[in-house]
Amino acid sequence: MNQSKRVSVGMLSLGCPKTLVDSEVVLGMLDKTRYRVAKEVTNCDIALLNTCSFIQEAKEESIGHILNLAELKREGRIKALVVLGCLVQRYQKELEKELKEVDAFVGTGDYQALNQVLGEVIERKRISQVGHAPGFLYTAQIERVPLTPRYTRYIKISEGCDHICSFCTIPSFRGKHRSRGLEDVIQEANRLVEEGAREIVLTGQDTTYFGRDTEKKFLLPRLLKELNRIKELRWIRLLYAYPSCVTEELMNAIGNLEKVCHYLDMPLQHISDPILQSMRRGMTKQSTYQLIEKLRARIPDLAIRTTFIVGYPGEGDREFSELLEFMKITQFERLGMFTYSEEEGSQAAILSGQVPEKVKEKRFDQGMKLQQEISRENNERLIGKTFSVLIEGRDAKRNHIYYGRSYMDAPEVDGFVYVETPQGIRLKAGDFVSARVSATQEYDLMAIYLKSE
Ligand code: SF4
Repeated sequence: MNQSKRVSVGMLSLGCPKTLVDSEVVLGMLDKTRYRVAKEVTNCDIALLNTCSFIQEAKEESIGHILNLAELKREGRIKALVVLGCLVQRYQKELEKELKEVDAFVGTGDYQALNQVLGEVIERKRISQVGHAPGFLYTAQIERVPLTPRYTRYIKISEGCDHICSFCTIPSFRGKHRSRGLEDVIQEANRLVEEGAREIVLTGQDTTYFGRDTEKKFLLPRLLKELNRIKELRWIRLLYAYPSCVTEELMNAIGNLEKVCHYLDMPLQHISDPILQSMRRGMTKQSTYQLIEKLRARIPDLAIRTTFIVGYPGEGDREFSELLEFMKITQFERLGMFTYSEEEGSQAAILSGQVPEKVKEKRFDQGMKLQQEISRENNERLIGKTFSVLIEGRDAKRNHIYYGRSYMDAPEVDGFVYVETPQGIRLKAGDFVSARVSATQEYDLMAIYLKSE
């Protein structure tokens, strides 16, 4: 590598928004006198790959990307490959042995050592920087290089998790829950809004636990209140709420603070009592139904996104039917489904009653088909209603149609609202407009432009 010029570093960030924030922080910590951030990971000196190892599918995707980047390295299109994050933290030894093309591995607690690691890579040393300390927690002082559009920014308010869900190994490599300081998060939010953010999306393994470790209080409602005061901010969106930590105060904050989207991402995982108990979720069928009822009564236009695991050990036809019944009754606005993935080191991996892959897949198809119908029906009920839409871009083929999101749509995971504009109206990404829903598709809405907001 030419050491007199700045070395270009590209980033490919896999997985969830939490990893995305880590990737932005990692790029922000690079020594600018030595490195510059490249636009494309496929065309740079050093490629960084921030990985995910949540479930089998995510691990396979991470490995696939490592192999693709290794191929680019063989072709000489990139000069070095550094793999970071969850997969490394979990499988350091195996990766070191199997993936000789990788020049360096960096664990989730070692991002601050990256400049040093890259220095060694440039000197053609192969290095692993994987400590046993839990993942690093950034502060507002650390600069981030944005990987999302200017108008939408994520803030990670905490790291790690204190829950003990039987199917999950995240706490073993992300550590116990550690909240950032309330003032620190507010300071960062102010800065992001000054830089142009109009939507702030709060993330963490469990956002509802914010403050429990540091002040023995649920501080999320207070944080929402403080963020609601930021003048130029339009939307505050909440991801990853843990159901048993959704307090009355939090419901009131979501319902009453005008900038907090009536949107709640709250993974429920299942509804059948024996499964919930085995999953160690701290919820029962009854308490889940009661929680949903309360949320719907308190915030009638709340869009609830949830996720379910199908094919968990011990899930028979009866338990699966209970889940389908729950979906029919509750009519979730947004829903994701995973087939159970047996994770080594998790409590669930040693349970009897493992469900055959074929059955898991069949249940997944059945569940998603049902949700498609529910989603279509939910969307049809929205025809004629007016929403604020955050414009994200223009349709590639139809100049007068823009696409964006309503309060019901989180970036990346939910659908779009396609907004038809009259002649002479030009919109740009980051604009808010009022639009009336005119037609629906399974997951997307069509709407007519009314006015710019
Ligand atoms: S809440 Fe449960 S599933 Fe989520 S990170 Fe914590 S242990 Fe894992």
